[in-house]
Amino acid sequence: MKRWTRRFEWVAYAACANDDRFVLERLSPNDVAEVRRICDSCPVRPECLKWAVDEQVSGVWVAGALFPDPVDERAEQVLKSLWRLAKRSIPGELARRGDI
Ligand code: SF4
Repeated sequence: MKRWTRRFEWVAYAACANDDRFVLERLSPNDVAEVRRICDSCPVRPECLKWAVDEQVSGVWVAGALFPDPVDERAEQVLKSLWRLAKRSIPGELARRGDI
């Protein structure tokens, strides 16, 4: 398993680095499928998911899913559900990825 020496060292491996389509304000509806495709093949999906869970992030793309801002009760429930799903998926994502 990959051992990181610095907290956000994994970000350098992110497939979305410097990709404007991952900035929500710049994302067009036509880009969604491509964003998901990029996340599908990203080598640091497990780290991205762990970051989302640990930091309880919102308003960003995480491993192909939009984690919404908790602007109302429904969005808050969706967000909490995504955090739970992300947490559960990390072991499988790590196993699937193998070493990098
Ligand atoms: S999985 Fe995370 S780090 Fe990788 S491309 Fe998607 S949003 Fe970026």
